[in-house]
Amino acid sequence: RLVLALETSCDETSAAVLRDGTDILSNIISSQIDVHKKFGGVVPEVASRKHLEMINGVVQEALDQAGVDFSMLSAVAVTYGPGLVGALLVGVAAAKAIAFALDIPLLGVNHLEGHLYANFLVEPELDFPLLCLVVSGGHTDLVVMSGHGSYRVVGRTRDDAAGEAFDKVARTLELGYPGGPLIDKLAPEGNETAVPLPRAYLEEGSLDFSFSGLKSAVINYRHRSRLRGEAVNRADLAASFQRAVVDVLVDKTVKAAGRFGAGTVLLAGGVAANRCLRETLAGECNNRGIRLVTPPPVLCTDNAAMIACAAYYKFLRGDFAPLTLNAVPGLKLGEERY
Ligand code: ATP
Ligand code: MG
Ligand code: FE
Repeated sequence: RLVLALETSCDETSAAVLRDGTDILSNIISSQIDVHKKFGGVVPEVASRKHLEMINGVVQEALDQAGVDFSMLSAVAVTYGPGLVGALLVGVAAAKAIAFALDIPLLGVNHLEGHLYANFLVEPELDFPLLCLVVSGGHTDLVVMSGHGSYRVVGRTRDDAAGEAFDKVARTLELGYPGGPLIDKLAPEGNETAVPLPRAYLEEGSLDFSFSGLKSAVINYRHRSRLRGEAVNRADLAASFQRAVVDVLVDKTVKAAGRFGAGTVLLAGGVAANRCLRETLAGECNNRGIRLVTPPPVLCTDNAAMIACAAYYKFLRGDFAPLTLNAVPGLKLGEERY
């Protein structure tokens, strides 16, 4: 079974061809980072135009690299939410056109479900229930997965997403954009206990997150130093910030695994590429006899292979989307809107 998947929810135009759900024949990712860099963030209108320019070429490249032509496809899958509406629409329109022209099933995938399924590309055999930490540019969720396609969000951020906090702090430190990878790179040169920063654990037993206070504390620290005319050690501040984020993420993840009886933890989303998070979570899981699965960094950030993998399980269930499928920018995990 060959599935072609498209992903255009944010600033990566991606297409992948997978055989039987987990065998990646191609995974082409065209990033728009250079286009958005000068604005310090993704400009939605620019993203849509860029997707439109890139999509046909990226699809052709994915087919060529896989050594496949359109006639061999069993189904076509696409991310239909959550994300930027104009960006999503480019992928949705292209996938619908392909499904209609070839008369093959269309599969609509939730972007977050795709992030979760990056783990099944690494380990197809996983025992439910699974506890997943989804940490990305727009989300910070703890999800209990009790079977394929069955999700319950048991914790979420009440303000900023973890990736958003990384990006904003990096901007304050004038490191550039996107900030996550730059902080990841700079932090090992700093002392993570140099700057005392708050950790928001919230109410006793809460599995929710909050990163806006931490972000403000970093910004305030920077301002105060500037007023005093003191130079800030950016590596120390980056390391202290990263440690504060990781401490809370890891603490709540292992607690949630215990509470919901999950013997396996999955890590997903762009921030899952963070080395400090991966190492700290691996250590804590190991201490508690929990199995940890993490996708390789390239499958943590946005890509179409993870969408194809999630789509394959929908394909097996016969969960097809109609050709009237529309983009749903605010789509929630576990929700179908078609
Ligand atoms: P969402 O998935 O919530 O819709 P998104 O698709 O924009 O949002 P992703 O592409 O999944 O987000 O992840 C991008 C985020 O991951 C950015 O905030 C980026 O800074 C962060 N990120 C990427 N690599 C790292 C890293 N090594 N360390 C920390 N953060 C990282
Ligand atoms: Mg991106
Ligand atoms: Fe994403």
